[in-house]
Amino acid sequence: LVSRQTQEADTIIRVHGAAIGGGTSTLVAGPCAVESYEQLRETAAALKEAGVRIMRGGAFKPRTSPYDFQGLGLEGLKLLREVADEFGLAAISEIVTPHDIETAARYVDIIQIGARNMQNFELLKAAGDVRTPVLLKRGLAATLEEFLLAAEYIVSRGNTQVMLIERGIRTYEKWTRNTLDISAVPILKQESHLPVLVDVTHSTGRKDIMLPCAKAALAAGADGIMVEVHPNPQAALSDAGQQFDIPEFRRFHERLLASGLFR
Ligand code: PEP
Ligand code: MN
Repeated sequence: LVSRQTQEADTIIRVHGAAIGGGTSTLVAGPCAVESYEQLRETAAALKEAGVRIMRGGAFKPRTSPYDFQGLGLEGLKLLREVADEFGLAAISEIVTPHDIETAARYVDIIQIGARNMQNFELLKAAGDVRTPVLLKRGLAATLEEFLLAAEYIVSRGNTQVMLIERGIRTYEKWTRNTLDISAVPILKQESHLPVLVDVTHSTGRKDIMLPCAKAALAAGADGIMVEVHPNPQAALSDAGQQFDIPEFRRFHERLLASGLFR
């Protein structure tokens, strides 16, 4: 069902007046994790001013260590909804368990399924049973075939509103957090009609190369970019080293627009 052979035209996903896929570029931005009302408000104000329409923020954080900040849970989703509504933004947040999918659909406009859960098949089925758009992240070591089959799990249950996002894969390279697989973009675009985005934050983990990587993604045909922004990254409870502060985000955004690649 996700194949170009089944459907030639690009799938276009509409949320809150934003259209993802089909030739226009989308920017999804926001903090790694929802931490507080003030943190979200500051971010949302900057996003609104930049014309960004979709705000991200994790409430259920899949952390490598059980001792690290795990997110605010349902309280985080409520905060995200409240601030998104205040600024007229769409909200996206990661859901990690099947039984939270229906609840989440009440608070977010897009459900994110994280890299670690790309092959959590019960979660994929639950996301397929609602009608909220889903942003599916590529697994840390997933092949493109596995990635597309994970999307197929969702679409085959009736939820056709699925977006794919490349977020870097595990390789031996240590100078980036993960290896951004740019080749995934044109291949996924050829093989599938679903929108394809690129997460320049979790793939590179390096603020100094996020702009050229975002440009490369758009040049390769990506429908959008995801980037993390935090009003005070040094104090962030997760991913402190790789989130843009607001001036850095503004520069990134301005330069991306000036490149002419963002359509
Ligand atoms: C995220 O986007 O918040 C995240 C945890 O990313 P990933 O699942 O790609 O590691
Ligand atoms: Mn993060």
